[in-house]
Amino acid sequence: MTTDKKIRPIHEYVEGILGGNRILLSRAITMIESKKPEHQSLAQEIIEKCLPHTGHSIRIGITGSPGVGKSTFIEAFGTYLIREQKRKTAVLAIDPTSQKSHGSILGDKTRMDKLSINENAFIRPSPAGESLGGVATKTRETMLLCEAAGFNTILIETVGVGQSEIAVHSMVDFFLLLLLPGAGDELQGIKRGIVEMADLIAINKTDGDQIDLAKSARKDYSMALHLFPEKESGWTPKAVTCSSQEKEGMADIWQLLLDFQQLTLANDWFENNRKQQLKNWFYDLIDLGLKHWFYRDVEIKQELRTIEKKVVAGKISAAKAVSQLLEKLI
Ligand code: GDP
Repeated sequence: MTTDKKIRPIHEYVEGILGGNRILLSRAITMIESKKPEHQSLAQEIIEKCLPHTGHSIRIGITGSPGVGKSTFIEAFGTYLIREQKRKTAVLAIDPTSQKSHGSILGDKTRMDKLSINENAFIRPSPAGESLGGVATKTRETMLLCEAAGFNTILIETVGVGQSEIAVHSMVDFFLLLLLPGAGDELQGIKRGIVEMADLIAINKTDGDQIDLAKSARKDYSMALHLFPEKESGWTPKAVTCSSQEKEGMADIWQLLLDFQQLTLANDWFENNRKQQLKNWFYDLIDLGLKHWFYRDVEIKQELRTIEKKVVAGKISAAKAVSQLLEKLI
């Protein structure tokens, strides 16, 4: 037993989460994010007990360069989902830079001020972890608890730079890329690979004097999307326009999501993709666990620097050094 007085028995968290208690949900997530081993093992037990109640959701990844309007979009879309579709919506994030910039996305909840006070919304900023793998694992576990708490739409935001898109893509059913009117994707800092991952491109800020530009951008992207190889899901990616500021285009986007879900449920991709994601996650966790085990080992810690110096000085090959170290573990 732990001496931490704030910690409750596991069943209280589990019952609380299953009953939709947001305070207990938040506390359990804090435990997922904690570095303390006793918190982590408690979190794992909570997740284990909640597992049969997870998965009943649509998981949507949202990306785009800083300034494209992700927070504004999530505020508008989340509010639409809750009000018009009676969906309970959880908003999570993967931002491996959040430690340095003190939470550059979702950290400032005032960016989604209406959504954050809605009782059918749950917003949780990106966990501050050391590695992308760690951040992604925690977000994935958080998603499961949100599902167990009855959130049936999960929006996972990430910044449109680097590897974090791939991490988000590996845990969602549908991937939405927000772009601006009138600038090619290279100008917007979007890599081709990210455009290729998208199930839907939404040209945001289609309002004011940007409308014509946005419409022609939509056409260009529609054509460009057809040039990519066909997706395993059988879904043909689409391009639409929207204005998050004016709250326009939200119903169209939701309808496309429903079309996607209907198609991929019928052809079994939805289920198979989730199974594949789970399998990949399992192996990712093995990788992470092994790494952690290695670096935590006392003998390794003592010898690492010395051997590193020998490698750098060319006295021993990197491969030989590694096998010597690994032998010590065995
Ligand atoms: P993020 O960095 O991608 O999360 O972008 P934000 O949501 O913070 O939006 C960046 C800026 O664009 C803010 O000043 C928003 O008010 C503005 N913005 C967002 N969506 C729209 C839109 O649909 N139309 C217009 N005109 N401005 C928008």
